[in-house]
Amino acid sequence: MRAAIGIDIGGTNVRIGLTLELGEILHQSTLTVADYQDAQTFLKELSDAIREFTAMSQDVEIEGIGIGSPGANVRTGTIENASNLPWEKLEIVDHLNSVTGLPVFLTNDANLFAIAEKVFGYASEMNDFIALTLGTGIGAGIYTSGNLLSGRDGLAGEVGHITYQRNGRPCKCGRYGCLERYASASGVVETTRQLLSEGILISELSGVPTGLLTARMVADAARNDDPLALRVFQVTGEILGEALADLTAAFNPDALFISGGLVNAGEILFRPMQKSFERSLLAIYPMDVPLMKSSIPDQDAGVLGASALVWDQIKKVNESSLTEI
Ligand SMILES: [Zn+2]
Repeated sequence: MRAAIGIDIGGTNVRIGLTLELGEILHQSTLTVADYQDAQTFLKELSDAIREFTAMSQDVEIEGIGIGSPGANVRTGTIENASNLPWEKLEIVDHLNSVTGLPVFLTNDANLFAIAEKVFGYASEMNDFIALTLGTGIGAGIYTSGNLLSGRDGLAGEVGHITYQRNGRPCKCGRYGCLERYASASGVVETTRQLLSEGILISELSGVPTGLLTARMVADAARNDDPLALRVFQVTGEILGEALADLTAAFNPDALFISGGLVNAGEILFRPMQKSFERSLLAIYPMDVPLMKSSIPDQDAGVLGASALVWDQIKKVNESSLTEI
């Protein structure tokens, strides 16, 4: 059986998984980022975890290691200056390659959902699609003509920092009015705070201390027909629909996939998003470009996407060597 190791590096946890070719996860383990302030200690611990997987899996053939991380520099194989990671520079590709002898592939963490969707999900037959992750921020992986769009430095797809509102809400990137300040889970919280402070709509959320407010609370309130919470999701859905129509104008995709915590809001988000998307779509595009909930379970997306990177890259190498023959 062919297998790959997927490593999903996040600000809190590093998830490592051994995955079979069809997407079954055989083993998983987690490292806590805060336990490894020093880059070398972290790399050693990561190598040990991989060695344990290899020892446990004598009956499978591990063909490569895929890594998704913020601050991934695809050109140099390093992770650099990621604002939510403690390491200034992590020479992860060279290190894991020399320790394991396996091919190691690196990509930006925002791409993991898109790669998982392409290899294991609904997008397997699609050449052009966009996978948007709505979490604390907004990330996107974009496939064009069958290839994941990388850009010069592997930094393509930062659609969360497209300007939605000139001189708008401050963003942690240092700019103002970025899309993710309005249309992510934290955007939902900010919009709720703003509407609460205006005091026009009544809401069960007015009793919640502002620091404790979460997007999930707002979604629950909306399901209870809370007028203010419903208004928040109406506004958020409309902003997202407009942004997705803009992305369609830029990339002409077969479909747009939505994943991440905010998707759990369900119809209260999707209904206004779909309406606004159709209203905003340039007339030259067919109205049947689907907006779909991702088929990849949220909790597995990172490890599956990182493993899928291995299959995706191996397939590309095989295809190009066939063409050369
Ligand atoms: Zn920003």
